[in-house]
Amino acid sequence: MTITIAWLRRDLRLADHPALWEASQEGVVIPLYILDADEQAGAAELWWRHHSLQQLQEALARHGLPLLLRRGKPLQILQEIIAESSSRAVFWNRRYDPAGIAQDTAIKAELRSQGIAVRSFMGDCLVEPWLHHHDEKPYKVFTPFWKSLLARFSIAPALPEPDFSALPHELTQNLATETLTDWHLLPQKPNWAKRFSKSWAPGETGAKNRLQQFLDESLANYSEGRNFPAQNSVSRLSPHLSHGEISPRQIWQETRFYLRQHPELTDEGEHFLRELGWREFSWHLLFHFPKLPDTPLRPEFANFPWQKDALLLERWQSGQTGYPIVDAGMRELWQSGWMHNRVRMICASFLIKDLLVSWQQGEAWFWDTLVDADLANNSASWQWVAGSGADAAPYFRIFNPVLQGEKFDPEGKYLRRWLPELSALPDRFIHQPWAADQDLLKKAGVVLGGNYPQRLIDHHEARQWALDIFEKLKKNN
Ligand code: FAD
Repeated sequence: MTITIAWLRRDLRLADHPALWEASQEGVVIPLYILDADEQAGAAELWWRHHSLQQLQEALARHGLPLLLRRGKPLQILQEIIAESSSRAVFWNRRYDPAGIAQDTAIKAELRSQGIAVRSFMGDCLVEPWLHHHDEKPYKVFTPFWKSLLARFSIAPALPEPDFSALPHELTQNLATETLTDWHLLPQKPNWAKRFSKSWAPGETGAKNRLQQFLDESLANYSEGRNFPAQNSVSRLSPHLSHGEISPRQIWQETRFYLRQHPELTDEGEHFLRELGWREFSWHLLFHFPKLPDTPLRPEFANFPWQKDALLLERWQSGQTGYPIVDAGMRELWQSGWMHNRVRMICASFLIKDLLVSWQQGEAWFWDTLVDADLANNSASWQWVAGSGADAAPYFRIFNPVLQGEKFDPEGKYLRRWLPELSALPDRFIHQPWAADQDLLKKAGVVLGGNYPQRLIDHHEARQWALDIFEKLKKNN
């Protein structure tokens, strides 16, 4: 009897899971999840992970299989389970982050030296990052990257959910599992995640339903609607993707299938898949530039004179900057664990270019508070906004938070949802309450510096400071 350990990581699903599939073809599978003692996880992501693991346990139980949960150092745990189960094989889907690659390489070498068969597979990208380059060099610009991916690679069909063989009774007896609740992944006191469940259904079934609902209800308006945070026009698949509850290949395949039935939506569908391409590009960048999470890709940004004022960061984090679109975004993030992409760009730009706080501090806050925290997407996007990354927004393009709000939330619906204290202000002042006269503010129940903060800075002045600093940087390089 062949027994294979399938080590699951950020791929918490059964369908289109090459490691599980291949293991199931060989014989008996032991699905294993290890809570790595050294991992630096964000708190909101751990909330999601708890629920995702719970869903996976239930899905495996329907196949008569337990999900083995262990906490500690992965190599040690794998060796323990190999000894307890007499398994001679370990399979996993590849990781592409620098720490994951280093760990997997070391574990593979060690286990192989002990005569264990170790096999790894591509499960979480459309194309292996190392296969895709231009004249032996990685891509740094998205459009040629995406064009070449579409032209040179065909996306393999997604795999079905495996039919698992039953785990022999004595094996089930030998393999002790830890209890998910003992891992304390959920926040306790205070339970800041209490509203998360209203917004999300973690797990593979939740992911499939989300994709179907998006295709049926929102794809038709994706290109235009995706910029408007009050509209229900984006897929909200990011936390499902970042936990691997659905693979990019499944999204690709389902979307293409849907477009064959609805050819009139081809442009919308291509646009949606192109956004999925940005995720692919981020992983491409992280694989080829492993310092992406903490070091600017453009060296001239290394000496940027960032403000080290803790108060500025705190006001931004708590949604108390006095700029409504920024504050609404930061409160959406805190209350739901997610923020709309347009607002992420505005909030990030405000922190970096108006408050002159380093992008790494914003990146760290997003890492801790996003349910979709994803090392590649988060670092590539922060560097993109900062102007220090690949294919980045030029530094001098500084978002004006009032104009952005007026353009993308013209009726203030998004603002009123997250900033109820401003809800009685008329549309024309809701993005700049300081411009309203005292009578109007009083009538709307708004007290600037009372129930809503005064502006932390003047955007026009801040913009000029930022541009002056950038000019000096350019001259000195
Ligand atoms: P949709 O518009 O429905 O797109 C579908 C999928 O495509 C997304 O789920 C995502 O996987 C991918 N995608 C879409 N836009 C982008 C993009 N600009 N860059 C990379 N991939 C994209 N995304 C994360 O998944 N995790 C992060 O930690 C993260 N941090 C970000 C930080 C900043 C400062 C910014 C500006 C963006 C960040 N993003 C991050 C990218 C983007 O905001 C989210 O992927 C998107 O908002 C998720 O919503 P959605 O699933 O409805 O997207």
